Amino acid sequence: MIFHPEILSIEDKPMKPFINPGEIRDLINKTSSSPERVRDVIAKSMDKQRLTMEETAILINAGDPELIAEIKEGARQLKEKVYGQRIVIFAPLYIGNLCTNNCIYCGFKADNLKVKRTTLSTTELEEQVKSLEDVGQKRLILVFGEHPKYNARFIADSTRTVYSIKSGPGEIRRVNINAAPFDIDGFRTIKEANIGTYQIFQETYHEETYRKVHQGGIKADYNWRLTALDRAMEAGIDDVGIGALFGLYDWRFEVLGLVRHTNHFEAVYNVGPHTISFPRIQNASDLHINKSYLVNDEEFTRLVAILRLAVPYTGLILTARESAAVRDEILQFGVSQIDGGTNIEMGSYSKRKAGELQDIDFEQFQINDNRSLDEIMVELINHGYIPSFCTACYRLGRTGEHFMEFSVPGFIKRYCQPNALMTMAEYLEDYAPAETKEKGYRLIREKLDEMAEDKSKVSLIDKLKQIKEGKRDIYL
Ligand code: SAM
Ligand code: SF4
Repeated sequence: MIFHPEILSIEDKPMKPFINPGEIRDLINKTSSSPERVRDVIAKSMDKQRLTMEETAILINAGDPELIAEIKEGARQLKEKVYGQRIVIFAPLYIGNLCTNNCIYCGFKADNLKVKRTTLSTTELEEQVKSLEDVGQKRLILVFGEHPKYNARFIADSTRTVYSIKSGPGEIRRVNINAAPFDIDGFRTIKEANIGTYQIFQETYHEETYRKVHQGGIKADYNWRLTALDRAMEAGIDDVGIGALFGLYDWRFEVLGLVRHTNHFEAVYNVGPHTISFPRIQNASDLHINKSYLVNDEEFTRLVAILRLAVPYTGLILTARESAAVRDEILQFGVSQIDGGTNIEMGSYSKRKAGELQDIDFEQFQINDNRSLDEIMVELINHGYIPSFCTACYRLGRTGEHFMEFSVPGFIKRYCQPNALMTMAEYLEDYAPAETKEKGYRLIREKLDEMAEDKSKVSLIDKLKQIKEGKRDIYL
């Protein structure tokens, strides 16, 4: 048990709201950030300890460019120390864009009559999944609007269909979900389909703003949303992803909201969230929002670094909403997962290639990184990252993999890095063009050279040989 008693609140109860806006506001307004305090907090995090809300506020309020540079450097080192150079790759797949809600920032809002509404049929779903498998994807997140048609049974059935589709050596090994909140029974039905992570973003933790930007539909209920992942936990889904949509309200408030949400899970369920997402608002069809809280690139980099330091054992997800340049820059400050080869227009994976222009009236928002999966792989490899499609922990029932990576000494060396290299080798064998293959195997050789001459290395070399000979889906 590594959670620090000082970060937990004894008042937290399952399925009860836990955000106190006055407490967060006070932390932002009253916490001072002397250089000594900032450095102490960075040192605590580097020592792999979770930060309190107040300590997070100390980082948030550090305005001196030199201190900000130290925060970023701390996050970079922590990422390297804890997670090494692996980056997990996934792709989003939009199943249906019918929606009864009116989130003002979203192209799929009910009032937007310009958007073309569709739901993939089973045949269309098969086509999409095969197209994704044919480029090498192994991990998907299925995305749904909020609509009576997309009930728990529908989401469970879609998940089962995705797992059942194989194309050549391709298969989807992990299906995550980004969809509306359900009651406990609904979450149970979805869990039975063997999902990975269930993601629900609070969008904004600031209730007054929340009410302004959600004008109708079930999502307008702030507390139903806030307690959604508690119900998922009660239903046995202990792998949940939280997030805030940056640009709706003060980014400092949202960062503290995310940390408070993490504390709530730790206090009540003794396990933190699996991942944290931090999308920034992007252009969308019929978008009319107050622009005063939009987050610029400098603030964005800072907030990612602060999150890395505040919750060192949680996965951080950076999506193709951001441009290639922003993603390449921010990756180093603690991101552990990115999407690659992303197309979010409904049905687009089988129709168009990544990189082609998209039509904003057919998608939820505009994405800014249109690189193909292979281009992303090459970019990562060129920068010394190990792209990983690993799903071993989930399939072996080792939940909370980030937590184990973080807290079990030697876990990454023993399991994560070899598994990452093996899944990369599968990609190189089955899907990569010659140039990527050459670069990828060069990286594998470099990583093998760095390993101690012991039986783990011998075993990994043997498994890589088996992959070359055609064996698939080997993991530790
Ligand atoms: N409909 C479900 C929901 O609202 O939770 C599922 C996912 S929604 C399709 C995925 C996420 O996209 C939302 O939670 C929101 O944070 C984000 N999003 C919506 N509009 C956006 C925009 N204009 N720019 C960037 N992200 C946006
Ligand atoms: Fe619907 Fe989700 Fe878009 Fe809101 S964010 S309008 S719930 S699809």
